Amino acid sequence: MQRHLNSVVLNQRQMSREQSEVALERLVEAALRRAKSTQVYASYKYSLDMPSTLALRTLPLTQKEDLHGHEDEYITSQKSLSSLFSTTATSSGSSGLSVSIKRSIRDVAFEQAMLNWWRSGVGWQPNHSVSILRAEFPKEFEAGELFLNIPKTSRSFMNAYQLSDQSVSKYADFLNRSRPDVIYAIPTSLTILLQLLESNSVDSYAPKLIVTSSETVTSNLRELLKRTWDVPLFDWYGNSERTSAAGQCRNGRYHFFWNYAVTEVTANSEVVGTPLQFRMSQFLRYASGDSVEDFSTEPCGCGWFDPHVKAIGGRFGDYVVSASGSRYATLSPVFDGETNVIAGQIIQRASGALDVNVVMMQEDAAAFERMASKLSARVPGRQVSVHRVQELQKTAAGKTKMVIREFEG
Ligand SMILES: [Zn+2]
Repeated sequence: MQRHLNSVVLNQRQMSREQSEVALERLVEAALRRAKSTQVYASYKYSLDMPSTLALRTLPLTQKEDLHGHEDEYITSQKSLSSLFSTTATSSGSSGLSVSIKRSIRDVAFEQAMLNWWRSGVGWQPNHSVSILRAEFPKEFEAGELFLNIPKTSRSFMNAYQLSDQSVSKYADFLNRSRPDVIYAIPTSLTILLQLLESNSVDSYAPKLIVTSSETVTSNLRELLKRTWDVPLFDWYGNSERTSAAGQCRNGRYHFFWNYAVTEVTANSEVVGTPLQFRMSQFLRYASGDSVEDFSTEPCGCGWFDPHVKAIGGRFGDYVVSASGSRYATLSPVFDGETNVIAGQIIQRASGALDVNVVMMQEDAAAFERMASKLSARVPGRQVSVHRVQELQKTAAGKTKMVIREFEG
């Protein structure tokens, strides 16, 4: 099935813009038909006199709150062979609501096909060797192992939790020995590795390519990478409900793939997705909760004609509130240019005061002042204090987030 879907995706991606518009109409029509056979969308009315892409836009948004606890009502009664084999993806969002999405084996394989296509588009070929530096890792690492080569493959893992001034030269040795073509990382772990290499003046082999996903790539990380390895980094975005998928192109723009989902952006910059390939759970205009910057449907110049954005921010609901009641969501610039900062977060306490927690390489009083004054300038009228911590605060759901607000509103 995977090979078949790889070629389906390849065919769709090779279409001309005109061909893709025709194909998109058909995909949307099929998605609307499947949705019609779900409990939730059965009563939805839309005109059959207009193209399905336009009809779709007349329908209301679906919110995570609607879905929570009602997941089964979103499953189509249209039977497909692939839905006999299903898997469940569970997510807990910023609002603490968890949802469990049933996906058919084809849904999972289609997403993988999309990812495979994108990877080869940015230069990650199937024969490339890869080293993985991510939070999810093999159980061998529980005993404190730093590295693991997967036998009979060209894959290895590096332990993301053992990086330190003492161990960094071992990571460099490992890279020098194994020479992976690609490093697949989460941004935080990659930042820590590069900062340790730089601050300890340790030279290491640089991969040809870095691919990241799961967290926002900060401008800090990009600058650090430029100073150290100076190799290309491409980031992939997908939300946990799988209603949107985007990958960076050679121009650095994130393209929301037209053949994966219809992607729209609301007036307040929230990504809304209608997946086109799902065979079980159906979502029409699902509001993801993630915010984007600079949405455009103009040609980007890279040859892909999907809609694209400059950046994908944190969860849309992650904002702090100024004394006058204004909401501020884009807070990552507070950490921009702070080369000592490994990871940072902003917590708004119930009192309204803002605490900045930073994990730092070393004490840096000037950096504390800069971050405090940048945050005060962005969010007026709030008391700001900066703290150096060993570890960032986690939410009740166990997630590390860049912005936490300890009150509703
Ligand atoms: Zn592009």
